[in-house]
Amino acid sequence: MTLHPLRSTRSARTILGLAAALMIGLASPVSAQQASGTALANVLVLGTGGTIAGQANARAGNAYDSGKVSAANLIAAIPGIDKLAEISAEQISSIGSQDMNDKVWFDLVKRIRAAIDNKEVDGVVITHGTDTMEETAFFLQNVLDTDVPIVLVGSMRPSTAIGADGPANLYDAMRVASAPESRGRGVLVVLNDTIHGARWVQKTNTTSVQTFRSPDAGPVGYVDTGSLRFLQPAVAIKTAKLKLPDAPPLPRVDIIYSHANMDAAEVEDAVKRGAKGIVLAGVGDGNSSKGAIDALAAAAKQGVVVVRSTRVGSGYVNRNVEVEDDKLGFAVSLDLNPQKARVLLELLIANGITDPSAVQQAFAQP
Ligand code: ASP
Repeated sequence: MTLHPLRSTRSARTILGLAAALMIGLASPVSAQQASGTALANVLVLGTGGTIAGQANARAGNAYDSGKVSAANLIAAIPGIDKLAEISAEQISSIGSQDMNDKVWFDLVKRIRAAIDNKEVDGVVITHGTDTMEETAFFLQNVLDTDVPIVLVGSMRPSTAIGADGPANLYDAMRVASAPESRGRGVLVVLNDTIHGARWVQKTNTTSVQTFRSPDAGPVGYVDTGSLRFLQPAVAIKTAKLKLPDAPPLPRVDIIYSHANMDAAEVEDAVKRGAKGIVLAGVGDGNSSKGAIDALAAAAKQGVVVVRSTRVGSGYVNRNVEVEDDKLGFAVSLDLNPQKARVLLELLIANGITDPSAVQQAFAQP
């Protein structure tokens, strides 16, 4: 583990840590803290890239390259962050999250599990691009069985921008990851002073710093200047933890986007290229044209697992309303958007869960 270079002495850290703890309402020390005999929480920062690590590019005024600055250097640039926690930083990848992939996900899980098993950490912060952050957060929530806060953070403006939002977001994420009251809340996403749960959070705006919202549930809390405010007590996340295969890739699951004047071609193509599952980003309540629904029914008959989701952006997809799910052998995604439904379906298929009613049950877990 690479220790962050900015360090004060242990006693100074302890006093500052207690002050920081009082400021954000922390009281009880937790496992890895006790193990290391320090008053500060131990937080591991795992860098994956994204705009938060972006740097201006000579091409044009607003152009930048994602994933150029290491997580350690991002932390080094934030005054006072070393007073919040004992921070160590490692780089897992340096990519824009549009290139996020199974290998990085497996590497994250391996490192986080090792850190938790060895009692190295009280919290984990993952710096990540915002484009697929909700997918990584939801993936981790489905495979990690821990109370330790896992917090994903990113930014909408690169580190070199005027008004860069990364430093404040990372500082807030550190406060959340190091706080005992963040334990047992599943995987969290922190941006723009707001804390979201992995199941509900979505990127909703292409460029605004207020892009992450949880349309079907609302945020789980806020990070204020002086306090960390969760809106509800922690509720156990009941999602059955799914096993990961020894190595990537996960089974192929394609998302098919529904639209007017749609025929069967996209569904048939997905089956031909070997999709083991298909998620329909359906119109409205997860619907599609007769041609596409017939093709999905034929795919389901051949053993492809079909889940109906919606392109709408909020609301539940309900069973057997306009589409006869029971008869056609489909599951519905309920509140999961297509990209999260894809993640869950990959994991279910990898775990041998392909029967439509068992798949449906898994989607219903909060
Ligand atoms: N394309 C970037 C990414 O997801 C955007 C961002 O981080 O905001 O990595």
